[in-house]
Amino acid sequence: MNLVIFGPPGSGKGTQSERIARHYGMTHLSTGDALRQAIRNRTEVGLRAKAVMEKGELVSDEIVNGVLREIIGQKRGESDGFLFDGYPRNIEQARQLDTICGEFSLSHPSVMNLDVPEENLLLRLTGRRICGQCKATYNIHFQPTRQAGVCDECSGPLIKRADDEPDTVRERLRVYKEESAPVLDYYGELGRLHTLDAAGDSDQVFEKITSIIEENR
Ligand SMILES: [Zn+2]
Repeated sequence: MNLVIFGPPGSGKGTQSERIARHYGMTHLSTGDALRQAIRNRTEVGLRAKAVMEKGELVSDEIVNGVLREIIGQKRGESDGFLFDGYPRNIEQARQLDTICGEFSLSHPSVMNLDVPEENLLLRLTGRRICGQCKATYNIHFQPTRQAGVCDECSGPLIKRADDEPDTVRERLRVYKEESAPVLDYYGELGRLHTLDAAGDSDQVFEKITSIIEENR
């Protein structure tokens, strides 16, 4: 089984990816990890990626696809399939992923799309606070500290990341929507898109994901 996971910032995509990969014995593959691994291993396409990144330029689809092809070739058979996270980012990459899976006789991936209402995402992201000392995380709306602005664990000061300011959050959500919409449409037309309500807590969302997977196995 191969899966692609989609979800906006704040949707809990990272946590769910880890749980799915652990539960089903899958290899969790993000584009960033794949690139770092190819660079570390000094593969041909890894060295090309490194040269582009050192110039501060964006890595092309061709390089990203090449890196993914390399890692899929190396790791297939090591686990019960791949969970792609942060890839594909556009239709061209989605098409390429299907081609690569075909080359290695792997099933075409189905897509889990975590859907959370925007107002909820705004509260989750703008409410996030991190302890400046011990890095414990809180949320002023959902998981407040006993004393405002002070860490429960170490009494350190709570910090709000610049990324979590309301304007930045709205922009991150807008960019995500714009980028993901065509790719989700692509998978929808192929009948491989599963969109689920991911507004609940982590356990509820994970249960929904596993029941969709079981129904479609
Ligand atoms: Zn602390």
